[in-house]
Amino acid sequence: EVKDLYVNYGAIEAIKGISFTVQPGEIVTLIGANGAGKTTLMRMLCTLLKPTSGTICCNGKDIFSMGSEYRKLLGYLPQDFGFYPEFTVEDYLLYIGALKGIRPIVAKKRVKELIAKVGLSKAAHKKMKKLSGGMKRRAGIAQAMLNDPKILILDEPTAGLDPNERIRFRNLISELSEDRLVLLSTHIVSDIEYIANEIWLMKDGEILHKGSIDKLINSMTETVWECLVPKNRVSDFMEKYKISNMKSEINPVSYTHLRA
Ligand code: ATP
Repeated sequence: EVKDLYVNYGAIEAIKGISFTVQPGEIVTLIGANGAGKTTLMRMLCTLLKPTSGTICCNGKDIFSMGSEYRKLLGYLPQDFGFYPEFTVEDYLLYIGALKGIRPIVAKKRVKELIAKVGLSKAAHKKMKKLSGGMKRRAGIAQAMLNDPKILILDEPTAGLDPNERIRFRNLISELSEDRLVLLSTHIVSDIEYIANEIWLMKDGEILHKGSIDKLINSMTETVWECLVPKNRVSDFMEKYKISNMKSEINPVSYTHLRA
């Protein structure tokens, strides 16, 4: 339960009064442009950053005073995660397992299962430095899952994934979300439209919209249009309206415009 959260970085107000309650079984996706405050919010939910004011509680307890009791419930994939480049995928996951305090015998079994789950079995003995961007991301998702967390926080998990990997990722997240809370961020709506049951639209440190994709689309009625215009009118429209997408047809030009 997050209440009245504010974060200032000096003069910058990165989070401006956010409150919400979430629970296991939910998949919440934060969508927003660069700098909207998604990473800042996620870092706070992982206790990596203290809010300037406001509270975050888990089952009624302040997460910052719970220490390892809270972190045992948590799996986190940061936007950039560190690893020793010479480690193989398997060594990397065993190493993270040791840091998380998982007993070696349990970790070994879990690492094997997770490597298969994220589709890295063939690359298990490949060095981390030799993985593609998408494979690294999948190794990152596996490390976040090592302790079977009740709260899974993934910062841009689909960055760098190819179309096949995106499909695999959607299926993986649906499977993982059964008895846990999954909170993820993305710029790419199509990655999550089949899996997220909640979309939160963030802008300038605030959550502007919460709800299903259908609710989000319905709220845009009378605000967003799609129309066809002749080529010689395109610049007029660009001056008058915010254009979210434009597609050229042989003749005329068709595009979607967004009213300011
Ligand atoms: P992106 O999609 O680019 O990751 P984001 O939505 O995650 O963006 P944040 O990284 O949370 O956004 O940043 C929110 C605001 O806070 C931005 O204006 C950013 O410049 C600022 N900010 C973030 N981290 C710091 C920091 N350590 N010091 C100062 N300002 C920061």
